[in-house]
Amino acid sequence: MNPSLDAQLADWEMVVGLEVHVQLKTLTKCFCPCPVAFGALPNANTCPVCLALPGALPVLNARAVELAARASLALGCTVHETSIFARKNYFYPDSPKGYQISQFDRPLATSGHVQVGIRADGSSRSIGITRVHMEEDAGKSVHDRFPGVTAIDLNRAGTPLVEIVSEPDMRSAAEAGSYLRTLKQILEYVDVSDVNMEEGSLRVDANVSARRRGDTRLGTKTEVKNMNSFSGVERALDLEFRRQVALLEAGGRIEQQTMLWDADAQEVRASRAKEASHDYRYFPEPDLPPLTLSSTWIDGVRKALPELPASRRARFLTEFELSAYDVDVLISTFGLGDYYEAVARAHGSPKSSANWVMGEVLSHLKRSGDKIADFPVSPSSLARLLDLVRDGVVSHTAGKQILQRMISVGGQPDETAVAEGLLQVDDGGQLATWLDAVIAEMPLESERYRKGEARLAGVLIGAVMKKSGGRADPRKLGQLLAARLTP
Ligand SMILES: [Zn+2]
Repeated sequence: MNPSLDAQLADWEMVVGLEVHVQLKTLTKCFCPCPVAFGALPNANTCPVCLALPGALPVLNARAVELAARASLALGCTVHETSIFARKNYFYPDSPKGYQISQFDRPLATSGHVQVGIRADGSSRSIGITRVHMEEDAGKSVHDRFPGVTAIDLNRAGTPLVEIVSEPDMRSAAEAGSYLRTLKQILEYVDVSDVNMEEGSLRVDANVSARRRGDTRLGTKTEVKNMNSFSGVERALDLEFRRQVALLEAGGRIEQQTMLWDADAQEVRASRAKEASHDYRYFPEPDLPPLTLSSTWIDGVRKALPELPASRRARFLTEFELSAYDVDVLISTFGLGDYYEAVARAHGSPKSSANWVMGEVLSHLKRSGDKIADFPVSPSSLARLLDLVRDGVVSHTAGKQILQRMISVGGQPDETAVAEGLLQVDDGGQLATWLDAVIAEMPLESERYRKGEARLAGVLIGAVMKKSGGRADPRKLGQLLAARLTP
């Protein structure tokens, strides 16, 4: 790191706009009936349309339009009743037509926004969405299959995408990361895409420039590509910003160019392809009519949207009186929020429901890699188990054991508690037997407790809990211990 540059950075402001390509979750491609599926043999999912054979004509996939409209409305955009498909002309081997069907001056949707960086006091920053347009994906060049030869796999060619273009509203790498995480969360809520950056269903290009603080004009921007994780985006933006500031401070000029992020080397470098400003020679796609949507249809799509993260966050905060942190964890995915809400409503205590869902349930999902939809214990069963814990029928420790049992072999909480012998023991005789055994095994601790070291109660009670297999009632045990070893 360069200490003088670190000092200079404070005088500069980062300006970032993001272009995010999102693969829509359709069964078939955007303009032909070929299946959209991973893992098929190369070029198995192709037809005259996506192979661009002469005379083949595109037919628009209605489901792709619906998902694109859904995404646009969830991002607060206006979906236009008329939008136009356009040819974006460029030659690239994985695009056999020599053009991409996209949208240009009449996109599907414009003028949305996303709230990011929501603070505990409810304040946040609004990031504008310039436009959302539909387009088709290209195929893939395969460089490592045949030595010395590049092969082309067109299975992906024609897969429906939306491109979500933001305003240059972000002012730091962290804010760009926050925008991307929010965007991903919203798209996951409305179920339009797998939004998985590692698998390529979400791809990010960044436009970044630097300007002196207080300056209102935008500096010359560069485009940063090739990032394959959100943390990679943040790192690449920081490094590119540093590079630009160093150059500007040295009296240099920023060249408008494409920079590539190299995750292995953790560096950005100029793309070797000298891209003069592209002339894509856009013109309206002659093989497709204008896309016309009625206002009734658009309203229908809007009405079918589920509750979005921002309103769910506000509702959970007031309805369940949880901390902002807890709410953010619980609403992280749509399914988890639904699951939590069902448990809390059935059990009655929002806080203990949150503790169990954020603790036991999430750590199981983390270990197994499953989604909440695959979690084997239903919300009503978990709520019943929490009732048993609250009512002292089983101890907290036993409750956890019962849940593990229900996860691994199924069953209901009441039966499992009986079958596993985990009903809480509050029978004084049994508790005394366990306690006496512990006092005999731990004479030093017992003696210190008797002489007034109250904190040793925890150690002794813990030992009895262990001996009882989690079945001893800790409250009764505390009373018994105090009576037995009065200081
Ligand atoms: Zn096809």
